[in-house]
Amino acid sequence: MIREYKHEPFTDFSVKENKKAFEEALDLVNSQLGKEYPLVIGGERITTDEKIVSINPANKEEVIGTVSKANKDLAEKAMQTAVSTFETWKKWSPESRASILYRAAAILRRRKHEFSAYLVKEGGKPWKEADADTAEAIDFLEFYARQMELLKNGVPVKSREGEINQFNYIPLGVGIVISPFNFPLAIMAGTTVAAIVGGNTVLLKPANNTPVVAAKFAEVMEQAGLPEGVLNFIPGSGAEVGDYLVDHPKTRFVSFTGSREVGCRIYERAAKVQPGQIWLKRVIAEMGGKDTMVIDNNVDTDMAASAIVFSAFGFSGQKCSAGSRAVVHQDVYDEVLEKAVALTKSLRVGNPEDLGNYMGPVIDQAAFNKIMSYIEIAKTEGKVVAGGEGDDSKGFFIQPTIVADVDEKARVMQEEIFGPVVAFCKARDFDHMMEIANNTEYGLTGALVTNNREHIDRAKEEFHVGNLYFNRGCTGAIVGYQPFGGFNMSGTDSKAGGPDYLLLHMQAKTTSELL
Ligand code: GLU
Repeated sequence: MIREYKHEPFTDFSVKENKKAFEEALDLVNSQLGKEYPLVIGGERITTDEKIVSINPANKEEVIGTVSKANKDLAEKAMQTAVSTFETWKKWSPESRASILYRAAAILRRRKHEFSAYLVKEGGKPWKEADADTAEAIDFLEFYARQMELLKNGVPVKSREGEINQFNYIPLGVGIVISPFNFPLAIMAGTTVAAIVGGNTVLLKPANNTPVVAAKFAEVMEQAGLPEGVLNFIPGSGAEVGDYLVDHPKTRFVSFTGSREVGCRIYERAAKVQPGQIWLKRVIAEMGGKDTMVIDNNVDTDMAASAIVFSAFGFSGQKCSAGSRAVVHQDVYDEVLEKAVALTKSLRVGNPEDLGNYMGPVIDQAAFNKIMSYIEIAKTEGKVVAGGEGDDSKGFFIQPTIVADVDEKARVMQEEIFGPVVAFCKARDFDHMMEIANNTEYGLTGALVTNNREHIDRAKEEFHVGNLYFNRGCTGAIVGYQPFGGFNMSGTDSKAGGPDYLLLHMQAKTTSELL
């Protein structure tokens, strides 16, 4: 019997042994830096001349690894492999497919700190964030495997006398998985294995900033017994390999997590039926957010301030769930702001290898430049009352930044910055708070801190976000507990880690036999 699903616990680093084990994992990873990682197509290792050089965002000089880079020809080779492997993989029983995920979860659990240490080095994640990322990857493996087992017999439908009707789910075909840098392990693994366990074959193009951890994960899937050709590892440029595969007539679906701009581009390109294409492609897109922490009056202002700060600055605000706007009732605005500023000023920014640093760097120079330019905009739209500084001399470090007294329509209240910047906006009353909370084009996460039951009930109806939280922060959804995904320009309304996620990678077949 498969035991009941429970999410993977987080590591308590105040326990000496845990801290030591993590330090050892960092030593191990430090001893493995600079290695070469090939493409993997149908089990074949392919080394290319052109490379992606993955660096440590906390120390630009340090190379994490050098990864081969696919071009169109190699993408085509990978597609042919995935197309032919689909013919055998789709015949595997759902239980056997699931068993590979259980095994991969077990391997990942045994090597948990090693993977987290890669996330520290390649992704710039502080220990706690890295640990949560690895735990979430394990959760996706465990959860989707169980979901597949639940779906294996389809859903019962009625049969009349003299007939047998069945309703079953079958796979789609070849899926293109394009994953983001911000959860280089969890989202990359989750989107990949959801497709695979459903009986599809995958071409995985990981984020160019974090390909090493993805290469390591592809190895784990191989060790877990995944047949060659089911998961093909093809890092490459979005404009070259990404577009080519999205447009490809044999692509059956695209599972993308990343920016709104790229998501919309994929959605549009995938809609065009290409010569030789005999289906309409599906797109699963998880895009941006402009997520709001709403603070009512009559609340514990310490709790409210810390919920805002940790939602805004966890992993330097580089989560689409990050609370990048605080909408605060005028009665408590000054007090919450003052406490949030004090707390923010106490946060240490620096190399994430040091457990004492709350925040590490942002991912790269382009992110650094973009966030710093938003801080310049913030100075014209409000008052920068904490942070505001950046230093990209060694790594891409930006101080956690609070912008106070911002108008509800200001750019820093509307546009996704994807960095450690939170805008504060004062609201008159609850109606006004809900109006501001819903005034963006996104609808991913949000939280309401309140002691008013009526306001909780109203928010459940009125606050239009995919993940709505009460009396806590707005990040940190847990697989199988808080299925994650948003409305409007946040994506295709899909819910990662939810009971209907696998179905997005499958199609239903009705059979009816006359007796
Ligand atoms: N699932 C994560 C959370 O709830 C965010 C994922 C993302 O940023 O894409 O915080």
